[in-house]
Amino acid sequence: MPNAVHATMSDAVEATAYLAIEDFLHASIKGLWEAFWREALFYALRMLLARSLSRLSFFPDSSTVFVLLVDSQYGGVVKVEGDVNKLNFDVNNVYECAAEWVKNHSRISVSPIDRIWNKLGNANWGDIGALQVLFATFHCIMQYAGMPKHSVEDLAADHSSRLQTRRVERQLGDTGVNGNGLFRYQQHSVSPEIVEVQDDSVKVDSKESMISEGTILWLEDSDWKKGYQIKEVIDTGELTYYIASNVEDPGKNLFLYVGSHPSQLEPAWEDMNLWYQVQRQTKVLTIMKQKGLSSKYLPQLSASGRIIHPGHCHRPSSGGNCDHPLCGTPILVTSPVGETVAEMVRTGQFGSDEAIRCCHDCLSALSTVASAGIRHGDIRPENVICVKSGTTHPYFVLIGWGHAILEDRDRPAMNLHFSSTYALQEGKLCSASDAESLVYMLYYSCGGVFPDLDSVEGALQWRETSWSRRLIQQKLGDISTVLKAFADYVDSLCGTPYPLDYEIWLRRLRRNIHEDDHGKEIDATG
Ligand SMILES: [Zn+2]
Repeated sequence: MPNAVHATMSDAVEATAYLAIEDFLHASIKGLWEAFWREALFYALRMLLARSLSRLSFFPDSSTVFVLLVDSQYGGVVKVEGDVNKLNFDVNNVYECAAEWVKNHSRISVSPIDRIWNKLGNANWGDIGALQVLFATFHCIMQYAGMPKHSVEDLAADHSSRLQTRRVERQLGDTGVNGNGLFRYQQHSVSPEIVEVQDDSVKVDSKESMISEGTILWLEDSDWKKGYQIKEVIDTGELTYYIASNVEDPGKNLFLYVGSHPSQLEPAWEDMNLWYQVQRQTKVLTIMKQKGLSSKYLPQLSASGRIIHPGHCHRPSSGGNCDHPLCGTPILVTSPVGETVAEMVRTGQFGSDEAIRCCHDCLSALSTVASAGIRHGDIRPENVICVKSGTTHPYFVLIGWGHAILEDRDRPAMNLHFSSTYALQEGKLCSASDAESLVYMLYYSCGGVFPDLDSVEGALQWRETSWSRRLIQQKLGDISTVLKAFADYVDSLCGTPYPLDYEIWLRRLRRNIHEDDHGKEIDATG
């Protein structure tokens, strides 16, 4: 035991004491690993001893320790209180004297042993797994200390950007940034040492297999039911969403986004992207609707609600959901539909006319929401679509509002290629940030090349070098002088508190849009 080290004794006895300590620690850790709570008590005692021997005093109450027990499914906390001075130490029988102390001089309480991975998502024993352990700790502390001031969602939202950055910095696992600057999470990894046992009643991956072309999904809100037939499944590699139509209006295509089963969602890291895409975006679009913000360059909230699954629902009468993979799953339906700029770039359909029009239309969308203090925070080629309908000229719509900034505490998405300098440095947006991201997107979409960006430092360095050598302006200048001038303007505003003058730039861009198709007009009101 540790205090043996301080006793006066022969070398042999000292060696025995060290061996005893090692044995003790080994047993403690092994026991913890197996989540055997009786071993947790030895570990707790070891912590109390270490504290009492330490000259440092970090702990206001050095007589209490909390030991967290987690395995691949369950988690709980053991709280051990007691005065280690009352430990009657016997170097020849460390376990027995520790057990005596536990029996006679400690107070022990055990929290409910919860199936935390159902509440917190599935354990992924890579870097995300480590964060889930922190999350589990948070959950367990909550059991003792009550609800915190900030919700789990707040903390998760704050953390996701830092997490992405850190994963890239540490080059962990499948951190490759794909061609479009999106981070890909390792979705289905299982560690070599722990194989997670899946709960048969909750089929995590079966959602996708249940929704395919032709499927009709029934959606319910408080006062209506609507059916949507799936026409096309879009898998971006990052997320899956759908083109669907209301069964009563089969001619009109809509985007349909399906969230996670509620029992898995609460805050599974893997599901955070889906949460932003469905629940958060629903909130943002609802607020935009309530504030009367409408523009043809903004998506429209068509419907939102929860899925009513086929077959009998075994939902408990107290509320909640049954185990059916789609039971109560949130859904968001928006219009219009179109091809993403990412896809257009891939297929060589994004030229100079598209670039100017795209800049105008996105800026117009940003201008509309800026009037209500809302910012987008996640502008990239996947979040802009080109809408082509028979009667009007193709136009661009800024979609993907899940990361929008509504209030000060909201954090933008982090993207090494498209995030603004201020977002990368501060985790916040300045007034020109969305415009800066728009410039990066146009630069990329017009054939501008990004170096391999694998860290925030690298991304910041690239921005600094490119702006100072005016490389971005030069590239955009090859497309059009107005885009070059716009990039110069954005450069002058970056990081300053000065507001962007939307009107001037919308006018200038409008003058540069080629009306080469027999007098069709672009919307001059935006
Ligand atoms: Zn159900």
